[in-house]
Amino acid sequence: MSTVLETEEHQALRDAVAALGKRYGRDYMTSVIREGSHPRELWTDAAELGYLGVNLPEEYGGGGGGMAELSIVLEELGAAGSPLLMMVVSPAICGTVIARFGTEGQKRQWLPGLADGTTTMAFGITEPDAGSNSHRITTTARRDGGDWVLTGRKVFVSGVDIADATLVVGRTEDARTGSLKPCLFIVPRETPGFGRSQIDMELHAPEKQFELVLDDVRLPAEALVGDEDAGLLQLFAGLNPERIMTAAFGIGMGRYALGKAVEYARTRQVWKAPIGAHQAIAHPLATAHIDLELARLMMQKAARLYDDGDDTGAGEAANMAKYAAGEACVKAVDQAVHTLGGNGLTREYGLASLITAARVARIAPVSREMILNYVSHQSLGLPKSY
Ligand SMILES: Cc1cc2nc3c(=O)[nH]c(=O)nc-3n(C[C@H](O)[C@H](O)[C@H](O)COP(=O)(O)OP(=O)(O)OC[C@H]3O[C@@H](n4cnc5c(N)ncnc54)[C@H](O)[C@@H]3O)c2cc1C
Repeated sequence: MSTVLETEEHQALRDAVAALGKRYGRDYMTSVIREGSHPRELWTDAAELGYLGVNLPEEYGGGGGGMAELSIVLEELGAAGSPLLMMVVSPAICGTVIARFGTEGQKRQWLPGLADGTTTMAFGITEPDAGSNSHRITTTARRDGGDWVLTGRKVFVSGVDIADATLVVGRTEDARTGSLKPCLFIVPRETPGFGRSQIDMELHAPEKQFELVLDDVRLPAEALVGDEDAGLLQLFAGLNPERIMTAAFGIGMGRYALGKAVEYARTRQVWKAPIGAHQAIAHPLATAHIDLELARLMMQKAARLYDDGDDTGAGEAANMAKYAAGEACVKAVDQAVHTLGGNGLTREYGLASLITAARVARIAPVSREMILNYVSHQSLGLPKSY
């Protein structure tokens, strides 16, 4: 990889995380998944080395970096076969939103734990009847004396079982206009009325997804993050990091699969030369490599813009990076499985299970089609179709 685009510190971080990832690797992740447990050891090691809070402010125990650094960490862990999906949510979305918009009290309460990995926070925005249309969410917060009372449903929320709290996107009614404004609330896991049930996913990953029912969840005033009137701005501050990190997740997984395929294609021989000598095998692998490199370039651009405080510029780049990485990941995994022939579908080689996992990068947190809608409408000025 070129060193021009990344500082020496970034390169050193990449190398160090890659070394940690290699110590764990795919076998570790596979055994964690088989046991139905969590990658605690890797999470703790990565946290102790300062990798999980690398984007959070130093005064609250973080590394003082940004999304450029955090995305390197997730990409390299993924490239080693052991991605930590909760990094997309806990330090990237929740840590960012609290660091940028939280009160001093919220920062002191949550950031040191998010930075050193001892606290994990999930993020819930998706609703069964809203899906991609987040303007349609109905989880509602009403005031009751000094408290907030939250009612609604969420779906597909990752890691609620292991998260100490979930950052829930709700809406409050504007007293003047009656319109609903998005608002973010920190809901500790054991709050009465905060129910969860695990969704039976066909996914080979340690992180589990949950449906949430919020039945008159009573929260203190300080559960509201930031300003009641700055809802959308706060939300987007967290969603851009989420997209950058999903790109990192996709690029990491794509690199892992591609690495396995190339290794196999170099040695597997059924005619006179290794199968990698056949262009029908070599060219799609080369294309996959190019697509992953291009996706990384856009991810680096998005991270740079975001870290420089350009939320609008970062929005477009983060969407494009997430799109490019999702597509590159799906294609790289597909080609990797194909390269291994029958072995691509065996449990021993462990690539087939990535077929479903790779699709996550295409669907979440915002689908391929919704990004194409965004680019055609926002970037190209074409009429909105929906
Ligand atoms: C593994 C996993 C983990 C997740 N983790 C979380 C989490 O932690 N927190 C959270 O809040 N959510 C999470 N999600 C939810 C995820 O963000 C949603 O699945 C995603 O936003 C899509 O919403 P939906 O599933 O309701 O699909 P829908 O919105 O119903 O879309 C279905 C299909 O229709 C297409 N479509 C919809 N509208 C349009 C349109 N206008 N034009 C063209 N095509 C359209 C979509 O592209 C998609 O292909 C997770 C999902 C998965 C699979």
